[in-house]
Amino acid sequence: MGGDDGGRAGTEPLLVAHLDLDAFFAQVEELAKPSIRGRPVVVAGRGGRGVITTANYPARRFGVHSAMPSWQGRALAPGAVWLAPRGTAYAQHSTAALAPVKATFSRVEQVAYDEVYVDLSSARAPEEPADLDPDGPGKELAVLGVDWAGDPYAAASALRQAVWDATGLTASVGVARHKLGAKLASESAKPAGASVLDVAAEELLLPTLGADALPGIGPVSARKLAGAGIKTVADIRAAGEPTVVGLLGQAHGTAMWDLAHGRDARRVEYDRERKSVGAERTLPADLRDLESLRSTHAAVFSEAHRRLLRSGAAARTVTVKVKYADFTAETRAASLASPTDEEAPLRAAAEHALAATSAPGTGVRLVGVAFSALDTVAQLLLALDEAPVAELVPAASVLQPAATPGFHPAYARDASTAADPRLDAVDDSAPLVTEQSAPGSDVEHPELGRGWLVGAGHGVASVRFESSTTPPARSVTVRLAEGRLRHCAPEPPHPPTVPAPWEA
Ligand SMILES: [Mg+2]
Repeated sequence: MGGDDGGRAGTEPLLVAHLDLDAFFAQVEELAKPSIRGRPVVVAGRGGRGVITTANYPARRFGVHSAMPSWQGRALAPGAVWLAPRGTAYAQHSTAALAPVKATFSRVEQVAYDEVYVDLSSARAPEEPADLDPDGPGKELAVLGVDWAGDPYAAASALRQAVWDATGLTASVGVARHKLGAKLASESAKPAGASVLDVAAEELLLPTLGADALPGIGPVSARKLAGAGIKTVADIRAAGEPTVVGLLGQAHGTAMWDLAHGRDARRVEYDRERKSVGAERTLPADLRDLESLRSTHAAVFSEAHRRLLRSGAAARTVTVKVKYADFTAETRAASLASPTDEEAPLRAAAEHALAATSAPGTGVRLVGVAFSALDTVAQLLLALDEAPVAELVPAASVLQPAATPGFHPAYARDASTAADPRLDAVDDSAPLVTEQSAPGSDVEHPELGRGWLVGAGHGVASVRFESSTTPPARSVTVRLAEGRLRHCAPEPPHPPTVPAPWEA
């Protein structure tokens, strides 16, 4: 069943790219903190249940890897730089890094904050620029005139370059005829590589891989296969389809049998993201008083919020829709500084939006609440930020935004307009640094400028006053009792000031 389709498969063009930012969280940290560049860097949740989210390449040499419990990693690499995740910074860098990709191609499937599949046959025409930033780098890329289908290596290189030009982050890009091949190609290119896996190379590579290289073979399936002596893709092929189906079940077994032979029909699911989620209610009788309008609005909000939580997304914008007795309609929206799924700020935004309508006016026949600007990425990252804080900080101070920078009103200012953060006056409404503040946090001092917290304890904080464009700094000790060291927003992504490693 497998061998006779080689010829047909060989005619499929190499049109799927997989782009993966290298050791993403750690790279963002190295960008922002010149003194740790090139050192082993581990980004990990705090507290007893903390888990490593990213280890950079130098740290991996000690055997540290993502998803490992922090205590275990610390035993392996005690001398590494250990930092708490800065969700807002990662979300901003993810958005900036992927913007040129999404601006150049219309079919882009984002599978993680640092990972996308791209259908290379969907390059936007130059006269039809993206709906993102019309002046962004994507427009230029689209008119580069690269023949994506004819020169897949040019496509991989151009994608890698676009991410670098926007952010100074390296990505690895692989191109192949389907998702499986593209992912294998990008993995083989890591870090900072561009690679093409043609059909012949794929056929050489696949049988040599462990069975768990196939998407869908997790630890459970791998154990089932290993129990029958099947450890590699070659073993799967040799076992025969009935054996694989017998071990893994009909649907899964057939799918894995096909993948083992380089047959991957999975599409680039570019339209999977949902744009909004919400609820609305048409009322049995028109509402004419403010109090019943408010209670109906509160109930519709609660239903919409339940749906938001179920969707696993975070929202930045809340829109309230009101239809009146005369069939006219009104919508008003309110936006937060960053996406959240928390009820209180979203409810406040919804109430703000409702107050901006003229309801109840002539009488209200429908009330709707919708959440948009959804961001599953921010959701994931903020969850990482928040989890350990509940363990470490007494309940009364949980509201201190030290670990949830996105939500503090002090951060609502548009970071992208601040040219040099050192020129800004310190925002004296931002929260003070305390001994509970997370290592790696962005901090600001009225005289010493902007930096990051190395650690705090015994009434002092150790801070390196440096940013992405300054020389590496040494640690400086600041007394917390002075009350002059405050948290601040992360430095926004910006184009690099040095050439890419592959340009040098
Ligand atoms: Mg990655």
